[in-house]
Amino acid sequence: MKNSAPKSNLHFADVCCKVFGHNYKKSRTVTSYITEYRCTRCNAEATTDEKGNLLKLTPQLKDINETLIYLCKKKRSAAASI
Ligand SMILES: [Zn+2]
Repeated sequence: MKNSAPKSNLHFADVCCKVFGHNYKKSRTVTSYITEYRCTRCNAEATTDEKGNLLKLTPQLKDINETLIYLCKKKRSAAASI
């Protein structure tokens, strides 16, 4: 016999985050003014923009942050070699 009740994809952590909001902890510093955060309950990711606003970390923003890290490292190594 098959269970006809629909399976819920909502977990307790998701419900807590929807009710109380995410509990973000800093996960990575991208630059001195851009930081990535991860929710300790549901693992949702967020990042700050150049104005300090908190945004959901989309694949596009993740790519931008990776590029920023690469450029900062390149800038630092170029400055160190002079
Ligand atoms: Zn959350």
